[in-house]
Amino acid sequence: MIYLRKKERMKNLNLRYLSLSKSKKFCLSKNLVEGTGPLDSKIMIIGQAPGTNEDIGGEPFTGRSGKLLDRLLVLAKLERDRIYITNIVQFFPPKNRLPTESELAMCLPLLKEQIQIINPKLIITLGNFATKALTKHSQITRIHGNILPIKLANLRSIPCFTTLHPAAGIRFKKNISLLEEDFRKLGFIIKTI
Ligand code: URA
Repeated sequence: MIYLRKKERMKNLNLRYLSLSKSKKFCLSKNLVEGTGPLDSKIMIIGQAPGTNEDIGGEPFTGRSGKLLDRLLVLAKLERDRIYITNIVQFFPPKNRLPTESELAMCLPLLKEQIQIINPKLIITLGNFATKALTKHSQITRIHGNILPIKLANLRSIPCFTTLHPAAGIRFKKNISLLEEDFRKLGFIIKTI
């Protein structure tokens, strides 16, 4: 897909995404936090949902989790501005709660369309929520650091590298070394794709 066409499709998708907030039952923040990064990225990072900083600034992973993510990307020798970064749910859930099943069901089809537009070679899911939403596997503490396939309708299977959410590293220091180990491993995996 040529870049201009991707741009047009993403713009249209973001408009449709924003219009979800007009529904009467909508209980998330009304600020859409759009995905960021080049639309022809080979790598896509997917988190859970924006936090307070992201809700205010309109960009994913700019708060404390984002700062830790930046440090981890250095370990994998990845440049953030060459990666497309987004979230499973792109509106801030009040009080940082987990998105509900119905919010997930509302946002997932639009995320899948984003994946189709970007068409990455590798997806990285951060944390249990994102990993479960895309691979159906939960228990991130057991499966992190591994590649699982993601199969979307009309698309080839895309490898998904699963790791902990950076927030888990901020909350419990012992998770930092697990995250660091995963991102070093990711650095090797990337050389092979
Ligand atoms: N946590 C997420 O999952 N996404 C963000 O954008 C920020 C924090």
